[in-house]
Amino acid sequence: MKLLFIVLDGLGDRPIPEFEGKTPLEYANTPNMDKFASLGINGLLDVIAPGVTPGSDTAHLALFGVDPYEYYTGRGPFEAAGIGLEVKEGDIAFRTNFATIDEKGIIKDRRAGRIKEGTDKLAELFSGMEIDGIQIILEAGTEHRAALVLRGEGLSQNVSENDPHVEGKEPLKFIPLDDSPEAQKTSRVLTTLAMKAENLLSNADLNKERIENELLPANYLLIRGAGKVPKVPNFEEEYCLETACIAGGGLYKGVGRMLGMHIIEDSMLTGGTNTDLKHKFELANKTLQNYDFVFVHVKGTDNLSHDGKPKEKKEFIEKVDKELSQFLPENYKDDLVIMITGDHSSPCSFKDHSADPVPIIIYSPDCRRDDVMKFGESYAAKGYLGHILGKHIMNIALNEMRLVHKFGA
Ligand code: ZN
Ligand code: ZN
Repeated sequence: MKLLFIVLDGLGDRPIPEFEGKTPLEYANTPNMDKFASLGINGLLDVIAPGVTPGSDTAHLALFGVDPYEYYTGRGPFEAAGIGLEVKEGDIAFRTNFATIDEKGIIKDRRAGRIKEGTDKLAELFSGMEIDGIQIILEAGTEHRAALVLRGEGLSQNVSENDPHVEGKEPLKFIPLDDSPEAQKTSRVLTTLAMKAENLLSNADLNKERIENELLPANYLLIRGAGKVPKVPNFEEEYCLETACIAGGGLYKGVGRMLGMHIIEDSMLTGGTNTDLKHKFELANKTLQNYDFVFVHVKGTDNLSHDGKPKEKKEFIEKVDKELSQFLPENYKDDLVIMITGDHSSPCSFKDHSADPVPIIIYSPDCRRDDVMKFGESYAAKGYLGHILGKHIMNIALNEMRLVHKFGA
């Protein structure tokens, strides 16, 4: 028995007046999800806890049964792992931007004109760099993004950032956030690094070319989101499943990689509303042949929620639904457990995440059934799963796969 776990980011919503008081999911025409809802068990999920508004990172840890209060130290480690950096326990990882600074030391563009190419060459300039006995590892991501890792003894995540988050200002100074020698050392290393980086990058051939071509040079590093890389449970060892992660967004690949999943790299996965959903779910179907557990992350629902676009969110949900018919029991040749949910609610009226619980369907060929006939927040509330926490769902899915060990004799 295999498991397909689909997370629609920010799926949950609130009633929309133009939708007859229904949510985008309830109002959407979703025959395939409705079929799974009618054949499966339904419920509502407080992904972290009732009344807690999850971030996407903490939410995903919770969905995979990993307690974010114990293991989450900041976004940096997950972003770094998502870019493909092999982070190690104890590393301090940061999110980083290549940015543009002018000769007066003022930030002109936090994203260096959304530089598209060549940042890998810029990152190479840092290879082998050591400051105060600390190894500096910089890896370029997409566009202006990069990940920075500090590796060595006596470091701390309790340091401030140098990113003022606005243009037209000087970068901030790194400040230790506690009195420990570790925090002081880390902020010293970062201060030296920022200076060295400005020097190295200003003299880089790529930036000289960019200036000649009247493009903004990527001559500065904005560094934020410090987090100490935690030792998280290894998902494959924990559950004895061969796992694969299909996601466009770096953060989700990072969570998957840190939990020990195999990351399916594919340049067509964009992590946005323009992603090719047909391709994504065909890839999921193919990947299921080689793995016991395939996690598919779809980001578009959350992006449209942040933009406050319920109509587009509803239409995007319908597009996802279209691709799910291949997994219906009549169309899929093997036994498959399917779990569909969101990582949190993102009401279009909030344009942000909320603590509202999200609906979940768990289907297996011989699961018990409830009376729920449609996928949606208010329908799911009447389902037989009731109201559960995110940390419970992996065990419930494993029970459907008949993989749960007996507790006791
Ligand atoms: Zn999310
Ligand atoms: Zn979001």
